[in-house]
This record gives sequence, C-alpha cells and structure tokens, in this order.
Amino acid sequence: MPPPVFRFAPSPNGYLHLGHAYSALLNFDLARASGGRFLLRIEDIDRARSRPDYEAAIYEDLAWLGIVWETPVRRQSDHLGLYRDAVERLAADGLAYPAFESRAEIARMIEQSPRQPWPRDPDGSPLYPGAAAALSPQQRDAKVQAGEPFVLRLDSRVACRRAGALVWEEEGCGPSGETGSVAARPEAWGDVVLARKETPTSYHLSVVIDDALQGITHVVRGQDLFWATSVHRLLQQLLGLPAPVYRHHGLLRGEDGRKLSKSEQAVSLRALRDEGATPQNIREMIGLP
Ligand code: GLU
Repeated sequence: MPPPVFRFAPSPNGYLHLGHAYSALLNFDLARASGGRFLLRIEDIDRARSRPDYEAAIYEDLAWLGIVWETPVRRQSDHLGLYRDAVERLAADGLAYPAFESRAEIARMIEQSPRQPWPRDPDGSPLYPGAAAALSPQQRDAKVQAGEPFVLRLDSRVACRRAGALVWEEEGCGPSGETGSVAARPEAWGDVVLARKETPTSYHLSVVIDDALQGITHVVRGQDLFWATSVHRLLQQLLGLPAPVYRHHGLLRGEDGRKLSKSEQAVSLRALRDEGATPQNIREMIGLP
C-alpha cells in the first residue's frame, strides 16, 4: 500500500489564523501518525487578492508551528494552462458553455423572476438563472466573435445526467452530522463558474485537478467546504479523476460565535506570536495534543 497523502491548501490573501493552524496541524499530525506524506499547496488563482508577502508569511507561520512539508510547493498560478485545457475539454464535451451576463444583469434577472424566493446554493448565493445555456451554438459563437466578455459555466443538467449518482466517503462529518457514504448533490450548486477571462479556472476546478495530480488520498479541511465536495465529485467524475477520502472538521468560532475569517481580522498567528505565544500554546488553544 502506498502511504496516504495529505495536504494543506491555503490561499495567500491574508495572514493565517487559529482556524488555519487547526487545519494545517491536523493534516500534519494525521500524515505523521499514518506514516503518510504532507504537502502544501498555494491556492493563488485569485490574482487580485493574492500577495507574495502573504505567501511568505504562510511558510514562516507553518514552520514556526513545527510543520514540515515537501518541496517544491505547488503554486496554482504556475499551472493556469493546465486548468484552461481541462475547461476546454469540458466545453468540447458539451459540459460547459459561455455565459455573457454581468453580475448586475444576473441580479436583475433574479429580482424580476416570478419564482420567489429564488433558489440559493449551499453557500447562500443565488443560482445562475441559466439563460445562456439556452443559446444556440451559432448565437454563442457570434457573441464570442463579437468580443462580448463571458465566463464558462458548467452545464449542471447535462453534467449530472452524464455522471449519474455520486457519493463520497466522509471520515469527518457535515454540518448536520452527515458521515460515511454521503450522497453528492451537485445540482444544489447549479451552473457554477468554471473559468473567467482574467482567471482561466476556478476554485472547484483547480482543487480537483491538483488533488488528483498530487496524488492526494485524504482531503482534510473545514466544514465550510463540506457541500462543495458535491461539485468536486462531479468534476472528478467528468474529468476521469480519482476521488480521495474526505474528512471535514468543525470550524473554530470567534467569541461572537462566527467562523474565523481572514477578511474579518481574526487574530493572526503572527499577532499571537508577537504577544509571546508558543507553538505549544497554539496547540492548546485549538485543542490539539
Ligand atoms: N484554498 C482554500 C481555502 O483557503 C482551501 C481549499 C481546500 O482545502 O479544498 O479556503
């Protein structure tokens, strides 16, 4: 049996906080305990929000925690061509289509729809109304030729039909205690964006491609991504990629009961370190031995 492979995949758009420390240390400890490997991946496809100094801080903070990872580290922005190829393959297979509406137009379509309340995805965002899926290939080509800006969306109806019923193996649990063999519900996400003009990929697409390419056998991450796994299973199936085992862990909450987030200035590991905390203190704070 080859050793299990774990990964921690932060986005360099802020300083790591206790929630990241929990996820990173849990992955690292599980890898150690099972004689497995631990990889680090920098998920920096969002060029507007990713910063090299945040990436440097990730390495510094993880090393301070006592985490050791294999090198070279995979950085998603180095592989955009690969993701682009995969999206083109999906489009050629009739599984993705260009959608031309701006965010404001989509919001207006939803507001004016007789269907209220408009359905939302598990993250709470309104589903794409799907008007562009109905365009003929000729209409699409004409718009693309005319230089209209577009995103590529998954045709979830065709994709779900082609993939059939999907499950994943959950070793942790979902927000309502889902565990074991969990039925994927990709239809709950509608026609997700797979690629944008400025970024020829998306979180969902690059994460499944990289997990497969890096031979990840165990995806251990926060429960906020539990239902995103539905889309990941669907993309794995469509792209012929293997499915890892998943373990979603509970999220650390701030004093106000909300999940910690970089954007809301959760106390960073470096601030705690500056205040004199030790890596052992951090483990105690997050309840890891
Ligand atoms: N890059 C994602 C984040 O920082 C994590 C992705 C994953 O673990 O699948 O939230």
